[in-house]
Amino acid sequence: MTREKNTFYITTPIYYVNDKPHIGHAYTTILADVLSRYHRAQGDEVFFLTGVDEHGQKVQQAAEKAGISPQEHCDRMVVHFQKTWEKLEITNDSFIRTTSDFHKKAVQDVLQDLWDKDEIYEHEYGGYYCVGCERFYTTKELVDGKCPQHLKEPEYIKEKNYFFKMGKYQEWLIDYINRNPAFIQPESRKNEVLGFLKGKLEDLCISRPKSRLSWGIELPFDKSYVTYVWFDALLNYVTAIGYKQDEKLFEKWWPANYHLIGKDIVTTHCVYWPTMMKAAGIPLPKTIFAHGWWLINETKMSKSLQNIVKPLDLVDKYGSDPVRYFLIRDMVLGQDANFSEEMFIKRYNSDLANDFGNLASRISTLIRKNYGNIIPPEINPGPDEQNLRKNAESLPGKVHNLINELRLNEAIEVIIAFVRSINRFMEIKAPWKLVRLDLDQAGTVLYTAAEGLRIAAKLLEPVMPGKIDLILNAFPVVSNEFAWGNLKNGEPLGMLPILFPRVQIDKPAPAPIKAAEIVKEKDLNLITIDDFFKAQLVTARVLEAEPVPETTKLLKLQVDMGKDRRQIVAGIAEHYTPEDLIGKTIVVVANLQPATIRGIKSNGMLLAAKKGKQLKLVTVMDDIAPGSSVG
Ligand SMILES: [Zn+2]
Repeated sequence: MTREKNTFYITTPIYYVNDKPHIGHAYTTILADVLSRYHRAQGDEVFFLTGVDEHGQKVQQAAEKAGISPQEHCDRMVVHFQKTWEKLEITNDSFIRTTSDFHKKAVQDVLQDLWDKDEIYEHEYGGYYCVGCERFYTTKELVDGKCPQHLKEPEYIKEKNYFFKMGKYQEWLIDYINRNPAFIQPESRKNEVLGFLKGKLEDLCISRPKSRLSWGIELPFDKSYVTYVWFDALLNYVTAIGYKQDEKLFEKWWPANYHLIGKDIVTTHCVYWPTMMKAAGIPLPKTIFAHGWWLINETKMSKSLQNIVKPLDLVDKYGSDPVRYFLIRDMVLGQDANFSEEMFIKRYNSDLANDFGNLASRISTLIRKNYGNIIPPEINPGPDEQNLRKNAESLPGKVHNLINELRLNEAIEVIIAFVRSINRFMEIKAPWKLVRLDLDQAGTVLYTAAEGLRIAAKLLEPVMPGKIDLILNAFPVVSNEFAWGNLKNGEPLGMLPILFPRVQIDKPAPAPIKAAEIVKEKDLNLITIDDFFKAQLVTARVLEAEPVPETTKLLKLQVDMGKDRRQIVAGIAEHYTPEDLIGKTIVVVANLQPATIRGIKSNGMLLAAKKGKQLKLVTVMDDIAPGSSVG
C-alpha cells in the first residue's frame, strides 16, 4: 500500500508560564503527542508545537514580588513545563516562548499590516477593569458590582485604546462555521460558539497602556502601548512555523490539522482567532478540537487512605507509560472524564498487568523453556492460527482509521480486545501441553501468538513509547513493519523484563457494622427493607441525549452505568434539553424489565421528583462514579 507523504501540523495551547503544570496541561500535551506519534507511524511528516505564553500583568506582578525582571521570572518558570514534558516523553518538534525575538517581530508585523489596512482604530472609553482577569467588564457582566471570577470590585478606568474591528466579521464567521462542519469539534462546542455569536460581536480591545502594563509586545504604531496578551499569544500558531519570516516553511505546514484546546478557551480560539486570521489574510486551520475536563474524585479509597492523589504524582509512582495509557484510554474525546487512583489501578491491572503483561511473559517463558529461547518457525498453520493472523493483518488499518477520527479510546479498546483474543487462543491451544506431543505444532502456536503480540505492541507504541520499546527490542525482526511474518524465527528472543507488575490495593479493614434494629409493623403502606432492595437503584452518567423524532415529550438517552452502557427513553423533553443532561449523574432503576417506547428500546427508568407541572431529575450531591448503588 503506498500513500502520499502528508504533512500533519498539530498544536497545544501555549500555557501560561505562571502556572505549574497540572493534569489539564498534561492531558492536552499527551494527546497531541500520541496523535503525532500515530501520524509519524503512518508515514506522515509531523510538526508538533507546544510552548508558553509569557506576557501579561500576572507575570509582571509575580516578577515584581520576587524582585527580579519579568524575563528572569519567565526563564525560571518555563523550566517547570519543559521538565514535565521531558518526564512524560513528549516529542514536540518545537517549543515556542512568546518572549522570543522572532515571535515579537512577527506579531508587530501583523499589527502594522492590520493598522495599515484600517482593521485597527483608536478610541477613548471608560470601563470597569478587573486586574485579576486583566480585562474590562460591562456593567451587565458584573455581579453585585463585582467581578464574577474574583468577587472583587473592579476599578473604573478611562483611557484611550486600540481596537481590532472584530465585529464586522460576525456574519462571515457564522457562515464559515456552518459551511465547515469539521472546523469546530465536537458538535457541542460548535453549537456553543454559534450560540455566543447570536449576540452582537463587539470589536476587540488589543492594546494596554504601558502606564498600566509594560510587560508585553510594543505596538509598532504607538510606543506607549503593548499588545493584549491573547492577540499576541494566538499568533504563536503561525509565527512558530515561519509566518512573516520564512514563507516557504509556513506554506509547508499551514493550515494546521489540529489546534487542540481545553473547553475553557473556546471563545478566544473559535471567535478571536478566526477573525484575526480573516483580517490578516491567513487561511483558517482545519480543525479546532476542544476536549473535556478530568474530574478528580474523592473516591472511597482516597478518602479512607487520606490520600488524594494528583494524576501527575502517579507518574513518579507508576511511570509515565501507564499514566499516558490511562488518560488516553479513559477519556471519550470531547466529554469530561473521571480520575481517581483507584480507577487508574483497576485499568492498569486489567489491561496492562493481566491482558498484556501476562501474555508477554507467558510467551517468553514457554519459548525459553522449550525452544532454548529461539523463536520457533511457523509450520502448517491451522484455521485458528490463520484466523488470528487475519485479525492481526486488519488491525493496523482499523486502529489508524479510529485515530484519524479522534476516537482514541476506541482505538485502544480494539487493540486490547485483540490482545485478549490472543490470550484465549493460548488457552484453547495450551502450548504448554502441546509441546509434549508435537513440538512443531506448539512452536507454530507460539510463533502466531508472539507475532500477534508484536503487532499489537507496535500499535500501542505511540501511547506507551517507553515500555513498548522494551518489548519490540526483544523481538528479532526482518523489518520493524506491521506486516505479518516480520518476526524472525531461528533467532533468540531478547530479555523481557516484567513490564507491568500487578499493583495491590491495600484495603483498610471494614468498620464493624452495627446490627440494624428492624421493627416490623403490620401496615399495608409499609414495606420491608428486603422489598425496598428488590429495586436496584444505581447512579448513571448521561453520555448522549437526543429528542425522539415526532414526539414532544421523549428524550433518548445513552447512559454509562459503570459496568455497561444502556439506552433509556424518558418523558422529560419538556423539562430538559439534551445539552442540560449530557455529563450529568442521574439515578436509574437498573433491574426494570426492558420496554419498547415508540419503537425504541428502553432499558431502565430514571428517577424524578414531580409536583403539578414541575419535574426535576433526581441526582447526587457530589460526584460519584457511574454504577454506584443508591439506597
Ligand atoms: Zn476578575
